[in-house]
Amino acid sequence: MGLKLIHSAAEFRSACDSIRSQGQTLGLVPTMGALHAGHMALVHDAKQRTSRVAVTLFVNPTQFTPGEDFGRYPRTLEPDREQCENAGVDLLFVPSVEEMYPPGDNTRVRVLGIADGLCGAFRVGHFEGVATVVAKFFGLAGACTALFGKKDYQQLKVIERFARDLMLPVTIVGHPIVREPDGLAMSSRNRYLSTDERKRATAIVRGLSVANQRFAEGERNARVLLDCVKVKIAAAELELQYAEITDPESLESWSRSPALLDRALLAVAAYCGRTRLIDNIVLGEDPNPVLSRSQTGTV
Ligand code: AMP
Repeated sequence: MGLKLIHSAAEFRSACDSIRSQGQTLGLVPTMGALHAGHMALVHDAKQRTSRVAVTLFVNPTQFTPGEDFGRYPRTLEPDREQCENAGVDLLFVPSVEEMYPPGDNTRVRVLGIADGLCGAFRVGHFEGVATVVAKFFGLAGACTALFGKKDYQQLKVIERFARDLMLPVTIVGHPIVREPDGLAMSSRNRYLSTDERKRATAIVRGLSVANQRFAEGERNARVLLDCVKVKIAAAELELQYAEITDPESLESWSRSPALLDRALLAVAAYCGRTRLIDNIVLGEDPNPVLSRSQTGTV
């Protein structure tokens, strides 16, 4: 069939409808572009699960808070298109801002509770922007399987919540975090890092790795586990925004349910220079994010 590049919402809707009318299933991978191996892993996962795959590529203005990098966010349509073509993507939907937010647009999707803590506390309005644009994509795509990365763990939970609450015909799949060989979580924003920052950025995953090891050895004191991360981040001179341990489903803070038993989310956001990086691990579930033990020892 080949890759079909679509700019119009109406055309995207009818292309998705036409896939289903042929008795085929649709996989949907929403992205902001500047595609890397993390995005492509979602595409490959989608291809295993569904007969046709649509990727959306849209730098969504409503999810950027004032002062964030909306203007300078990387926009690399041609290499993105090539990667999608090579990966066997069927539809690439690249709408303009006006197409997604036409004149008069005045509706927002706000998820209560789960969107308030972690990143939501610092990026006020961010998840409302995400939920709104993803709801629009779901509205256009119709019944499908939509894939999201666990790198944006809170985002995944927010999307699962509103898809269920709004009774949308979408099956949500969370895909494991794809990492660089040294453990750094892949991100379109990693390209902002200088050589020195790129080296220091691994402090986050090295901290998660140590906490994961301690958890596996039986440590259940949240302060001790959080300190594993904080020590690495401080030593690498990153600026910690938050490190928190929460229930992996409700995202409620550990402090409200101190029985941290089998499974807990450890989520981190830190600035490396001007670049905000996030990462997380589900303690008691995810494998160690850094393969070699020796990599956890140095800053
Ligand atoms: P973005 O373009 O940053 O909005 O990301 C688009 C989708 O790719 C989201 O579902 C992200 O969670 C996912 N994603 C981004 N980076 C990674 C990664 N390193 N591993 C897994 N999924 C990722």
